[in-house]
Amino acid sequence: MIKTRFAPSPTGYLHVGGARTALFAWLYARRHGGQFVLRIEDTDRERSTPESVQAILDGMAWLGLDYDEGPYYQSERMDRYNEVLDQLIAEGHAYRCYCSRERLDALRAEQMASKQKPRYDGCCRDLTATPERGAPHVIRFRNPTEGDVVFKDDIRGPIVFNNKELDDLIIARTDGTPTYNLTVVVDDWDMGITHIVRGDDHVNNTPRQINILKALGADIPQYAHVPMILGDDGKRLSKRHGAVSVMQYRDDGYLPEALLNYLVRLGWSHGDQEVFSRDEMVELFDLSGVSKSAAAFNTSKLQWLNQHYIKEHAAADTAKRLAFHFNQMGIDTSAGPALAEVVEAQCERAKTLVEMAENSRFFYQEFESYDEKAANKNLKVDVQQPLQALRDAFAALSDWSAQLIHDALIVTAEQHELKLGKLAQPLRVAISGGGVSPPIDVTVELLGRDTTLSRLDRALAFIAERAE
Ligand code: GLU
Ligand code: ZN
Repeated sequence: MIKTRFAPSPTGYLHVGGARTALFAWLYARRHGGQFVLRIEDTDRERSTPESVQAILDGMAWLGLDYDEGPYYQSERMDRYNEVLDQLIAEGHAYRCYCSRERLDALRAEQMASKQKPRYDGCCRDLTATPERGAPHVIRFRNPTEGDVVFKDDIRGPIVFNNKELDDLIIARTDGTPTYNLTVVVDDWDMGITHIVRGDDHVNNTPRQINILKALGADIPQYAHVPMILGDDGKRLSKRHGAVSVMQYRDDGYLPEALLNYLVRLGWSHGDQEVFSRDEMVELFDLSGVSKSAAAFNTSKLQWLNQHYIKEHAAADTAKRLAFHFNQMGIDTSAGPALAEVVEAQCERAKTLVEMAENSRFFYQEFESYDEKAANKNLKVDVQQPLQALRDAFAALSDWSAQLIHDALIVTAEQHELKLGKLAQPLRVAISGGGVSPPIDVTVELLGRDTTLSRLDRALAFIAERAE
């Protein structure tokens, strides 16, 4: 059975590059009916924080990347790593290196001076006289000195490293703690990982890990190294390019479906299809469709997808997410129109949920002042009478419905010999404070009779005051 994993180091938030790697690994498992493991690589006690563990868990949950096993924490598996270290030493695959920092620094300087690649010279490989017990040392893996390490990367094709290029890497530090390359190998082995999908910044670790796996007699998994993500300026994606944390996208009003769809297309393609539901991704994804070259981030495409999903989703679902944003803005929506109806009215014109919430604020909260331009243009003394008449017509409506509101608007405009827009736009500014809203009859209906009448009164007072 296929088993993949996502193995983030919790040293910051979950960023989009990590999320895309997680998505590819998750999709590969789901596509092949396999399993997906989440493993938190928190052996670096200095840099790992509980906040960033939480950010990773939140990000995975928000994106809906569910896991069958985990989260495992490497910090809880130290005994197991020590056991493997002992085993490697006992079997001669690893050895203690007592070289001092000074010796290693001198060696390095010498190699650099003679234009050689700096590498450990194997000084302690075959020590016969062991220094006194407890003398400070690291543990090094005894890397083979001959032959090649060859693997077929599922994205990049065959990759060959000569063992001569690899030196005896440190697998436990002087304080006894295991290093990344050891913990990853032990975990991938113990957890039965069959396919390792990860960022291509790890390509150079792969031959070392394969050698350790071989020494342990473990099966060698398949590898797929995903190319990195670039910003729209061709440089590696970073904070400079705007939001890169997954949860920041939520806070900025993106739907997880849009971000997932965006991320899957970042480096993967299926013909020229752009829109993929989660089910479609699972059905169609394969590593063979992942591009070998770096993909460039494109915010306007993400926005386009977000708008697509805002239009497409059931209003009731989007309403729950919109509620989150109103909450963030400190706005109580309980006394206003149902959120699902607001979504229904607004979904055609918002690129993000933050924008939708901002544009819908007036349904729930008195606005402080009118948009100046809109008021100057629309709240003038010549609409005083028609607006007053409209107010009275609204007050007299037998039923508060978009249809009757629409009819009242038409009749009042005709009575005052105004084009519909010449009355509808002042009405819009009066009730919303600005010049943009959903269709006016729907907006008025949603706002309710009491609020509509009081806002018209406010606008009439505003006009009267300005007339003086
Ligand atoms: N913990 C490593 C990282 O965050 C990933 C290890 C791996 O995928 O092998 O980059
Ligand atoms: Zn040494």
